[in-house]
Amino acid sequence: MGRTDARFLVTGGAGFIGSHLTRFLLQYGSVRVLDNLSTGTLDNLREVLPEIEFVQGSVADPTTVQNAVDGCTHVFHLAAQVSVPLSMELPVETFEVNVYGTQLLLEAARQSGCQRFIFASSAAVYGDSPCLPKRETMHAAPISPYGWSKYYGELLCRDYWRVFGVPTVSFRFFNVYGPRQNPRSQYAAVVPRWITAALTDRKPIIFGDGKQVRDFIYIDDLLQGIWLGATHPDAVGKVFNLASGARYSLLELLRAIEQAVGDALTPEFQPPRAGDIRRSYADVRLIQRALGYQPHYTLQEGIRRTVEAYQKELVAA
Ligand code: NAD
Repeated sequence: MGRTDARFLVTGGAGFIGSHLTRFLLQYGSVRVLDNLSTGTLDNLREVLPEIEFVQGSVADPTTVQNAVDGCTHVFHLAAQVSVPLSMELPVETFEVNVYGTQLLLEAARQSGCQRFIFASSAAVYGDSPCLPKRETMHAAPISPYGWSKYYGELLCRDYWRVFGVPTVSFRFFNVYGPRQNPRSQYAAVVPRWITAALTDRKPIIFGDGKQVRDFIYIDDLLQGIWLGATHPDAVGKVFNLASGARYSLLELLRAIEQAVGDALTPEFQPPRAGDIRRSYADVRLIQRALGYQPHYTLQEGIRRTVEAYQKELVAA
């Protein structure tokens, strides 16, 4: 698909994933971003700001949402209260943004006749079920209000397709990493935290023994999957894992960062955190078979690119 008259709405477009998606989508059409800048920043969009329409507001506000969806052909709904610990403190507020906000967007998409609605769900939907790898056919068993809110979002998407014919696609993102992920946020993911620790001569902190296993997906592979969801006829009405399909321990991640920075790192081990899931990785056969998804980046290559981007940012700061 070349550049067309497609008009994309990206909610959460000022965040980590949304700011990458916004740049990616600009090659195919015009982009409007709706973001309340609670965890995202305009800095994430700095060089593309003149090319996009930026709307500051909340997905939980009906008028804002209706105006934002109006005239859009595709909605990419990424805005969310993304922190699991904060969702434990503020479950009602988390549901207001993640569930009510999602329904407002779906309803606006229904009324405007939007061609595709992509929902950013999460591996958190699987909770701590011991079955591995995680398959889309498994029962959802979330263990936090954040996980529940993503599951309810998926159910809303499914029913807006079944009942109203809104062409929705939900993706369960696993551990996404890449440039611009915020290492300063209180709930920052392990990749940006360890890379910035390594680049500023601090010790990366490992909670537990480091043998926890995760599926880390590089941002460009994630974008490939999202774009297949937006364009492939067989994607509609479905829920897909979106992951690399590879599994790595946190100790292996640390080694990949060591390699990329060219320095040995001495981690500081701390007690495991309550509620930490020990092993989580995805079966990606459904998205491979149905949509032809093929992840390209090994952890080593993705981390090398991410470290390079952080090094450039540090030099520019
Ligand atoms: P992020 O915090 O960088 O981005 C979230 C964006 O949503 C931010 O720009 C924030 O300002 C915005 N936002 C929050 N509440 C809003 C509201 N009420 N109205 C409008 N905007 C609001 O997080 P991210 O990592 O880019 O996550 C994007 C999406 O992907 C989220 O839905 C998240 O749950 C999902 N996800 C991410 C990962 C990951 O590994 N990063 C894993 C699973 C799922």
